Amino acid sequence: EELYRIQGWGDPYFSINAAGHITVSPKGDRGGSLDLLELVEALKQRNLSLPILIRFSDILEDRLERLNACFAKAIARYRYSGEYRGVFPVKCNQQRHLVEALVRFGKPHRFGLEAGSKPELMIALATLDTPGALLICNGYKDQEYIETAMLSQRLGQTPIIVLEQLEEVDLVIAASQRLNIKPILGVRAKLSARGMGRWGGSAGDRAKFGLTVLEILTTVERLKAANMLDCLQLLHFHIGSQISAISTLKDALREAAQIYVELAKLGAKMGYLDVGGGLGVDYDGSKTNFHASKNYSIQNYANDVVAEIKEACDASSVALPTLVSESGRAIASHQSVLVFDVLSTSNVPSGPPEPASEADHLIVRNLYETYTAINPRNYQEAYHDAVQFKEEATSLFSFGYLGLRERAKAERLFWACCERILAIVRHEDYVPDDLEDLEKIMASIYYVNLSVFQSAPDSWAIGQLFPILPIHRLNEEPTCRGTLADLTCDSDGKIEQFIDLRDVKSVLELHPLRPNEPYYLGMFLNGAYQEIMGNLHNLFGDTNAVHIHLTPKGYQVEHVVKGDTMNEVLGYVQYDAEDLIEQLRRRSERALQDQKITLQESQMLLQNYERSLSRYTYLA
Ligand code: PLP
Repeated sequence: EELYRIQGWGDPYFSINAAGHITVSPKGDRGGSLDLLELVEALKQRNLSLPILIRFSDILEDRLERLNACFAKAIARYRYSGEYRGVFPVKCNQQRHLVEALVRFGKPHRFGLEAGSKPELMIALATLDTPGALLICNGYKDQEYIETAMLSQRLGQTPIIVLEQLEEVDLVIAASQRLNIKPILGVRAKLSARGMGRWGGSAGDRAKFGLTVLEILTTVERLKAANMLDCLQLLHFHIGSQISAISTLKDALREAAQIYVELAKLGAKMGYLDVGGGLGVDYDGSKTNFHASKNYSIQNYANDVVAEIKEACDASSVALPTLVSESGRAIASHQSVLVFDVLSTSNVPSGPPEPASEADHLIVRNLYETYTAINPRNYQEAYHDAVQFKEEATSLFSFGYLGLRERAKAERLFWACCERILAIVRHEDYVPDDLEDLEKIMASIYYVNLSVFQSAPDSWAIGQLFPILPIHRLNEEPTCRGTLADLTCDSDGKIEQFIDLRDVKSVLELHPLRPNEPYYLGMFLNGAYQEIMGNLHNLFGDTNAVHIHLTPKGYQVEHVVKGDTMNEVLGYVQYDAEDLIEQLRRRSERALQDQKITLQESQMLLQNYERSLSRYTYLA
């Protein structure tokens, strides 16, 4: 458990059972659990191949409940006389079953949705049917976007159009006059306080989004002139996703609360303060301000939001706003697990080498001597010698002075030296710089049945860390160290960074493969952003996905969303399956005429081809 830090990031949903398998407790502390390995085996029997994305709707519900419960507790604790009405940012995971489930789970809390684009607005408008829930309209807007949002008021929606650009102010005023509808408006403030780390660019004076204080004032004046200042009711900010340090949030809250107070004083009918997203996820379980972690709980977060805003408003005798947050990552990350299989491994040679003899080339004898002399006092020097001898052996080979067999012997001895040195290094407190890469050099490569570009794009694009570990054999010591290489023909298609306490490690502890026995790995906490940002590199398509719901009798597969077939991915790049088959058929007819293929062979080829087209893009 320690090795993979599962308690830190997995609690209360993921743990390890006596059989050494991952246990999933989708309802958190509220009971009920299932064995992930057994689930995967059962899904395979339903003809679903790996990689497979398993979504646990109960986890989603639990996350939503937790967030609301924390705000309720904070509101009670600080005797806040307003309420909390959160929204889910659809951008975080737009999958229909997920959004529909969220709306359903959110009903008791009047939980709403946030749209960041026109297509997301389409989803939100049709899906959200909770009376009183907010529909926050963010993102760049044109006339159509604004009109659609305003008209939805007539359907009983509560759309709040958040102005992010000065141009939008004029569009909104014109639309309001044209449609004779009084919209609820918000402004997105460009705060000086900003998040840190990978997503920190969402705030700051030159951020892409939001209005500066000067622009906010201009907005107020223009609305006033149009007799619409009472429409302005919400202040929004978002300082970036995955806020790791709570102090950053506090700074932003203070700044925003002051802007809120000022807007109220200017005559706007302020009623909502929307603190955006950013509530972090503890991917490495370290509970620190490391970028893959966060140094606060949801309760701390809710407490700070409530307390800071109350303090600022009370100090200026401004009525307390309804609090809105747009937490995406914190709601959607935990609910999905990607399970994939290891296809094969590539290992560096290990074990004691054959001794060198008098008949061997000097360089081979030197390497053997280096190997036998390695000890905890000289290992660093021995490493330098081994590297040098190996380089010399390669040069000698290139100049024709060393045969292939001798070169192979030299390389074998080099790996033997590294193995011995690594065994010493692992026990040292301090590792010299030049030996830091040794672990990585000696690591096995585990070839996995997945595309990093499709299933973990943030791992490739911004080095985001996700917990990855075997879902079984966890009561067996993982004696190998490996990195993961995916199916794509791209050297970036790999994972070489794994969670460690407040750090990253370059290798993952794994088990040796056993003949004829599958080895399954799970990538956890990847339910936010990864699916939609995944791309079709090498035409590996969407993976199979299932929705699992816990029942008193066990579990139920609520939905099966089949992954892309080859037909489908080829369609995305404008190939038509029928045309492709026809082209191949014609070719095989020509080859038949030229007697280059037999009729039987050509039939086999065509059948394989046709069958493949309707199959999954991953390896069977
Ligand atoms: N709101 C806005 C405006 C965003 O841009 C984002 C995403 O970065 C979010 C909410 C969701 O953020 P998070 O997933 O960190 O909660």
